[in-house]
Amino acid sequence: MVSRVIPVDPFDLVIFGGTGDLARRKILPGLYRRFCSGQMEDNSRIIGAARSEHSTEEFRQMVADAIAEFDPKSGTPEMRAEFLERLEYVQVDALGDAGWQDLAALMSPGRVRAFYFSVAPSLFGALAERLHTHGIADDQTRIVVEKPFGHDLASAKALNADLAAHFDESQIYRIDHYLGKETVQNLMAVRFGNMLFEPLWNAQYVDHIQITVAETVGVGGRGEYYDKSGAMRDMVQNHLMQLLCLIAMEPPAKFDHDAVRDEKLKVIRALEQVPLQDVVRGQYLAAGADEPGYLEHVENADSKTESFIAMKLRVSNWRWAGTPIYLRTGKRLKARSSEIAVVFKETPHSIFGADAGRHRNVLTIRLQPNEGMDLFVTIKEPGPGGMRLVDVPLDMTFAEALGPDAEDVPDAYERLIMDVIRGNQTLFMRGDEVEAAWAWADPLIASWEERGDKPVAYESGSTGPEEALALMHRDGRRWREIRA
Ligand code: NAP
Repeated sequence: MVSRVIPVDPFDLVIFGGTGDLARRKILPGLYRRFCSGQMEDNSRIIGAARSEHSTEEFRQMVADAIAEFDPKSGTPEMRAEFLERLEYVQVDALGDAGWQDLAALMSPGRVRAFYFSVAPSLFGALAERLHTHGIADDQTRIVVEKPFGHDLASAKALNADLAAHFDESQIYRIDHYLGKETVQNLMAVRFGNMLFEPLWNAQYVDHIQITVAETVGVGGRGEYYDKSGAMRDMVQNHLMQLLCLIAMEPPAKFDHDAVRDEKLKVIRALEQVPLQDVVRGQYLAAGADEPGYLEHVENADSKTESFIAMKLRVSNWRWAGTPIYLRTGKRLKARSSEIAVVFKETPHSIFGADAGRHRNVLTIRLQPNEGMDLFVTIKEPGPGGMRLVDVPLDMTFAEALGPDAEDVPDAYERLIMDVIRGNQTLFMRGDEVEAAWAWADPLIASWEERGDKPVAYESGSTGPEEALALMHRDGRRWREIRA
């Protein structure tokens, strides 16, 4: 298979917060990989902008160090040197007037102009405003904003209003890096590019759907931020909700940004409110003296914030009535693993008798590790001894099926930044989607906060609280193994 890298138009990309953690770990190494793949035209430039004083040389060294640390294998020393030549640095204060004229002077006419807001959301409004007052943004300018997009519906609306005061919705790219994953897009290809799955993709044939995003890390290092947020706000309202939308949405008329996002929005609006008995919230316990528990990590012995959440959702529409969707996400779990599983119903009648056991087709979509899909089908166990059945996976691991091409699959940030330059918003959240997700999440959060519910404890390195297992067991179902 021949790899097809299509260069994007020449661009000036300004990264506000260019010296920050996200820029160093993800954005700049990602841009470097796109450069190595030949996707950046010769005259494209990347401009780091932050409050501290640095020379362009110092910024280039910082990026060289970041690449050496986070992506030591890509490219050659020559490529690295060439990439660093594309970088500039400008000292700009989002909240003051210092530096803005320098930034304006750096902008080149006739190129795509994009501004990545890799800074605290409290600075989004100020950045949007100053880009305009200093004449740096025009109708074609794009801005990229990072999560968290609001803390609740009111704050998300306020953020949307701040951005809308200066930019049209078609210029705003709200990033959710889960949507940039290769498998997530493949999910749409599998659903809407094949005849095989779509006819079965409904409550008549699907027993239930499970979405798991399990992490092994705790909240150490970002305890103060996390304790104000929790798994519901940090993961469910955005990442898991987006995955749910792609799994449950109706086929859009075309693969176009508004058509796809219209369908996702309908799913969020069709979500029923979740009763508290269908929610399990947990906090991880310490694992020995060296591995503190959640309460020690956030330095708040009375914290009622969850580091784990599991819940059962219902989508009230014709397609999904009667088929629950179970979500689960947490920290300090057994393995780092993100997976969607579509569990089909059993055959209506087994011609092989009771001894053959119960079997179901399951389509699993793995986001990490080893992005890929498995379709479990039931076959005869090989060998003599009668008709014994066994479920085996038809493995669709991309690395194997696509050969060397799969190695150049861009990571989520790279792909999404290239989409910004191309002006393709399909994989970005629209303002009304974000607001609808908060409108769904807010009453649920309020209901446990009003009751003063405290999350239940769970062992570090486990699959979460026992109560989460019971949530499934009481429906005669069970979670899939969390496996690395
Ligand atoms: P960070 O490490 O604290 O970096 C913040 C950046 O913002 C620094 O470059 C800082 O520059 C700059 N900055 C702060 N105040 C400024 C001002 N008044 N004017 C101009 N620049 C200013 O933060 P981060 O972890 O990179 O996160 C950035 C954003 O991405 C946040 O919204 C965060 O929630 C989001 N995010 C981060 C991650 C992650 O993995 N880190 C993941 C998802 C989302 P100075 O040091 O010079 O002030």
